Amino acid sequence: MSLPQSGQKGRWTPQEVREYLDRYGYGHIIDELYDAGYRIKSYDRMVTTYIENGEIKSREVPANGSHSDSTIRIRANLSVKEAASVLFHEYLHFKIEIYQRDDPESWLKEEEEVRYREELFRIDVSKKAAELGRVEDMLGPKIAGGRRNGIPDRNTIHDYVEKKYRPFLEWTRKMHPKSDYIPDDDISRKEWGK
Ligand SMILES: [Zn+2]
Repeated sequence: MSLPQSGQKGRWTPQEVREYLDRYGYGHIIDELYDAGYRIKSYDRMVTTYIENGEIKSREVPANGSHSDSTIRIRANLSVKEAASVLFHEYLHFKIEIYQRDDPESWLKEEEEVRYREELFRIDVSKKAAELGRVEDMLGPKIAGGRRNGIPDRNTIHDYVEKKYRPFLEWTRKMHPKSDYIPDDDISRKEWGK
């Protein structure tokens, strides 16, 4: 098990993420989430617990964020711009309603669409950041090959989701793991500023 080291990638604060999103015209997503009754939390470690051969086991999942039951969680140990991108990713899961509980395949379809639109967001932010001369705000492609000639590459994103998410989906359907977040810190609306 390898734990992210504190401070290695920097830890974001809600106010910094808000300022970043506001700068590029996306700050409204925070208000939309709270208006819809969402809670936003941060964590250092995501641990899933499951039963295998009658034994209780647990393993750490290296996810940077998650979305379930009107709660969005973002890993604390991320840079401001990557935390903003993860928040936008999880916001897209709230906005895009492809996933149906009785259709596991739709879970993969939704992830693919979310990743496609997250890449559009990263491209848009980077274009605006370049115009402002804020090179440090620019975001590269989220996955290798996920962007070609300045546009998201749908095939690469599709293959990535198949390779990374399908085995996880199948494992989840078999094992019914329960996820715990350590810590599981609630961020109040006020903490984002404004
Ligand atoms: Zn996702």
